[in-house]
Amino acid sequence: MLGQQVIDLYHTIVDSSLRRTPFDGSSKKAFLAWQRRARRMVNRILGEMPRRKIPLDVQKETVEETQSFVRERLVYFTRPGLQATAYLLTPRRVRGRRPGVLCLHGHSRGGKDEVIDPHSIYHGFGRRFAEEGCVVLCPDQIGFGERALPEDKVNYGVLVHGLNMLGHTLIGLRYWDLVRALDLMEALPTVRRDRLGVMGLSLGGEMTLFLSALEVRVHTACVCGYLTSHRSTFLDRPHCTCGHLRDLARHFEHVDLAALIAPRPLFLDAGREDSSFPFQDAQAIVRSLRPVYELFGRPASTIGIEIHEGAHEIAGRRSIPWMLRQLSK
Ligand SMILES: [Zn+2]
Repeated sequence: MLGQQVIDLYHTIVDSSLRRTPFDGSSKKAFLAWQRRARRMVNRILGEMPRRKIPLDVQKETVEETQSFVRERLVYFTRPGLQATAYLLTPRRVRGRRPGVLCLHGHSRGGKDEVIDPHSIYHGFGRRFAEEGCVVLCPDQIGFGERALPEDKVNYGVLVHGLNMLGHTLIGLRYWDLVRALDLMEALPTVRRDRLGVMGLSLGGEMTLFLSALEVRVHTACVCGYLTSHRSTFLDRPHCTCGHLRDLARHFEHVDLAALIAPRPLFLDAGREDSSFPFQDAQAIVRSLRPVYELFGRPASTIGIEIHEGAHEIAGRRSIPWMLRQLSK
């Protein structure tokens, strides 16, 4: 079976090529210099971005009113010819500006609807933040919910690989949508601009990671069912290929992307039964980053983790209260 030689060669390449640009936690100065360099590199890896921001031109309609919040369906432009859809949940009976939370779904047919559904793997986490008095934006990510692709020759796979061939990436397109989602939230009269949080599961966790790593407007981040390692996920088993970014694993492991969020508040929500994203790797990330938070004199609670008994889902028992505490400071 000579095919085994190919697999052996692959593992040799993984060992020799992975993580050439790890974070440098030797001093504050060294860490900040690494962050500046790494942000530029990750920006390049995400591919070409629009040169300028166009008006969002937001359209709204109310779709639900509960005792605690009003839910509106929003449609807004993120780039010329491209509109995003989202739910905006605004708490009732609160005065003044509130923390804003961006709640992100993963690969899911229902998109934003699943984020507010108490019976989905998201356990309605978007709804829970609104009930606690936060302004919540739940966008549909490209390819899901109202933004599912039409049946066409250019299907999801062609989009992923075609964009890569052209110096763009699907993750980069989604990243830009979320940059514009932050712009939208910042412009709301109900939102405290210095208290923007992001939380998401799976692909939503991945997008939480990239957005918070590169956008310092994000005050607090919670990554669920994603933050582990390339070695134990994309490099070791089949996944949807939309997250396979050229040169990403060559330079950075997950822990390095998480280090781009430090010393801002960061929490991980990981399932003991999540076979695609091993919780032991999530625990190792928190252990490796603790010294960085100490370097900046941040309280130990600024970084944390919840290992729940479930699988690929958001538990939110500790992570949601932690987010609320960080955002209310
Ligand atoms: Zn994908």
